[in-house]
Amino acid sequence: MNNITGVVGISIVIVMMQSDMKARSTLESDMRLAIARGEYHFHYQPQVDIAGRILGVEALLRWNHPTRGNIPPLEFIPLAEETGLIIPMGAWGLRTACAQLAEWEQSELTSHLTVSVNVSATQFRQPDFVQEVKTILLLSGATPSKLKLELTETALADDMDVVIKKMNALKDIGVTWSLDDFGTGFSSLNLLKRLPLDQLKIDKSFVSDLLSDKRSLSIVNTILHLSQNLNLMVIAEGVENEKQLAALQLIGCQFYQGFLFSHPLPISELNDLIEGRVATGYIRRHPESV
Ligand code: C2E
Ligand code: MG
Ligand code: MG
Ligand code: MG
Repeated sequence: MNNITGVVGISIVIVMMQSDMKARSTLESDMRLAIARGEYHFHYQPQVDIAGRILGVEALLRWNHPTRGNIPPLEFIPLAEETGLIIPMGAWGLRTACAQLAEWEQSELTSHLTVSVNVSATQFRQPDFVQEVKTILLLSGATPSKLKLELTETALADDMDVVIKKMNALKDIGVTWSLDDFGTGFSSLNLLKRLPLDQLKIDKSFVSDLLSDKRSLSIVNTILHLSQNLNLMVIAEGVENEKQLAALQLIGCQFYQGFLFSHPLPISELNDLIEGRVATGYIRRHPESV
């Protein structure tokens, strides 16, 4: 490489880095305004039993950006974590989910539903996290036992005693805990032994490999047995077809969510689904539930 090519190469890299930094800072300032502008909303994905009864939903964040359209959460949540914006965003999520819970509790048709909310590691790490959840629950009037908080293994990597204390403080008022994406992080059996968890979510990577890879089937089978002994509820995520569901059913998995039953839905479509006024093409019910 001669000097000229070298200089040109470096300049291109610098320009690319600058434009990347600019894009990040634009996204960051847009994100700062998004709550006040009402650009965030949730889509809710049904969580069902093997017979297709909806037991709850997972709240999944969507950002309707004024110029860029819908931005998927994995494109902005990492930056929100880095910048600390995840704190107000997470609080917004909890308020929104609890308000929804309180509303569903008003009707007999929906009063049994639970709502799962994803809690980021940074959010969980805040010293006032427990108090914040308690306050939001109280102000919303929602029943705490209908609120499920989903953590991933990264959130649990800190001082185990502190983590346990926080989890128990909310568990004492009825809130339940779910371990998301189980099997993809550094989960050790020690986590399962010590943490006051209520539920494990089998990561969708295991579900998608279930039919082609004996090892995935064997891992899922083992998770199911283990959970049974530890009294943990297990839910499979990312179930996309009947064959995967049949395999899960065969090994005793009773709960799932995934595109097979329904994509995450805007609230109005979810309410239609629950109230039996369904007819959107992409909602397919498990045959046993029809
Ligand atoms: P997650 O909590 O593991 O959520 C599951 C993801 O899988 C969701 O993607 C969901 O739309 C998708 N999914 C559901 N069923 C299927 C299926 O059958 N097949 C496939 N291929 N995918 C399926 P989404 O909504 O893009 O969310 C991605 C991640 O972003 C979530 O993973 C979660 O880690 C994070 N996230 C979403 N909402 C929030 C939030 O409010 N707060 C925080 N902290 N994180 C959130
Ligand atoms: Mg989740
Ligand atoms: Mg997950
Ligand atoms: Mg995930």
